[in-house]
Parts: sequence; C-alpha cells; structure tokens
Amino acid sequence: MKMEPQVTNCSHRAQSCPRQWATLKETESAIERFCESCSQTVYLCEDEGSAITHAIAGHCVAMSLVSEPELPAMWLGTPPKVPVITDAQREALKQHHLDSEKVRALKDAKYSNRLCEYCGFPIATWRKTCWVCDAAERRRPT
Ligand SMILES: [Zn+2]
Repeated sequence: MKMEPQVTNCSHRAQSCPRQWATLKETESAIERFCESCSQTVYLCEDEGSAITHAIAGHCVAMSLVSEPELPAMWLGTPPKVPVITDAQREALKQHHLDSEKVRALKDAKYSNRLCEYCGFPIATWRKTCWVCDAAERRRPT
C-alpha cells in the first residue's frame, strides 16, 4: 500500500494550504518544512506517537496516509453495475477510513486533556471514547 505524507492537522485554514508534504518549502531539517500558505512549520512524523505529541503542542503535522489513487473510484448516483473492488482497494479503503479518524483525533488535540489508553490518540474533553478506537469497534465483524 502506497503511503504519502500529507499535512493532517492544519488548523490555520489558509484556503491555499497545499496539504502535500512534497510541495512544502524545505528547511535545514529533514523532518521540518515550511508551509508558505499558512506561515507555519510543518513537522513530518514517522510514527503516531510523534504525530500526537506535535498535535498537542499545536504544531502542523504531516503523516503518511494512504494515497488516493489506490482507493476504489467513488460513484455518484446509481452505478450502472456493482463496482468491482479489488482486495488491495478494500484494504486501502479500510486504512483510509482509519486515517481519517486519526486525523480527527489529532485535530481534537487542542481540546484534549487525556490520551486514549488503548491507542494513545488525544480525546477531546467532551468525548467519552476516542475516534480511532470507536472506528475500529464499529468495523469489527459481528
Ligand atoms: Zn483509542
């Protein structure tokens, strides 16, 4: 599965935030780049632990997410026939859903005062459970 670093918790909402690590301005540090749209340093996180730490510190974070071309094409309206989804696409889709829950959790970092005891992602003060584990729970086969 191909994973590409993407800016995951930009909260500066510049319309033109490219959100792609590859397009950010390089710095002396291999794991820091500068987003010229948001005027923020973006930190490349190799693992979820450092993504969580940076998100809590209020930093822009780039982490590897499953890349779009691997996902099955989406249909709008009624498809002419049942789309065929390959195993690789199904796997990519699963990862893509999980990725989006992780990104949600990272965005909640600034409203969080605790971390999930199972996955370590931040939980917003108003939530009982975390996005990431909730998603895993929902998808568990019954
Ligand atoms: Zn969790």
